[in-house]
Amino acid sequence: MVELKTTESIDAMRAAGRVVGRALGAVRAAADVGVSLRELDTVAREVLRAAGAGSPFLGYRPRFAPVPFPAVVCASVNDAIVHGIPDDYRLRDGDLVSIDCGATLDGWAGDAAVSFTVGRARPADLALIATAERALAAGIAAAVPGNRIGDIAHAIGSIGRAAGYGIPDGFGGHGIGREMHEDPGVPNEGPPGRGMKLRPGMVLAIEPMLVAGGTDDYLTDGDGWTLRTVDGSRAAHAEHTVAITAAGPRILTLA
Ligand code: MG
Ligand code: MG
Repeated sequence: MVELKTTESIDAMRAAGRVVGRALGAVRAAADVGVSLRELDTVAREVLRAAGAGSPFLGYRPRFAPVPFPAVVCASVNDAIVHGIPDDYRLRDGDLVSIDCGATLDGWAGDAAVSFTVGRARPADLALIATAERALAAGIAAAVPGNRIGDIAHAIGSIGRAAGYGIPDGFGGHGIGREMHEDPGVPNEGPPGRGMKLRPGMVLAIEPMLVAGGTDDYLTDGDGWTLRTVDGSRAAHAEHTVAITAAGPRILTLA
């Protein structure tokens, strides 16, 4: 079931989303060669704490997970696609890092992700990240009343495929509100004009994930959480929480 949010609720979600945007900005500013993933998680924790926000990631345990998620961000480096657990790994020159962060404030959730490089970037990584961001922008642009979920999926998938990238099978965005994961699912690929009609008050997390090697398969790490590419190629992830309004898409997770 899809819950339509009032303008007041969307404003409250904007407050939660702003905390997410700030946390991602702080993590990105702190990320550098030699900094550990655990230290980046601590940076995000501090932003959430200072804002009086909670974390929908910390302790989250979906059916597939062997242990509750132990951090407030997912940190996925190089061939990790999403759901990486921040550990003592220290970033190296040229690493591609994807950080996914959530926050809850006054009972509302926000969810966003960003990918970036540290040190001397590989041109191929910059192209991958730029394409993920373009796919996200296209998905957001399609998030208007009268369109359908399939139009968002098609916008994202067309850009990823045109660039020759893989799109991990079965992963995508989701409705969001009082819970981080609500209906409907928002696939990262699919035919246009299909699926649920978009209405003002729907709030969606839109989140393309692209794999440089071009395959849609993935592996799950021994930790039960981290998804990795099967060919060792790199992956990028970009996400915003977006409200569908009569005036057009409203991004709720900007800093
Ligand atoms: Mg996320
Ligand atoms: Mg999400």
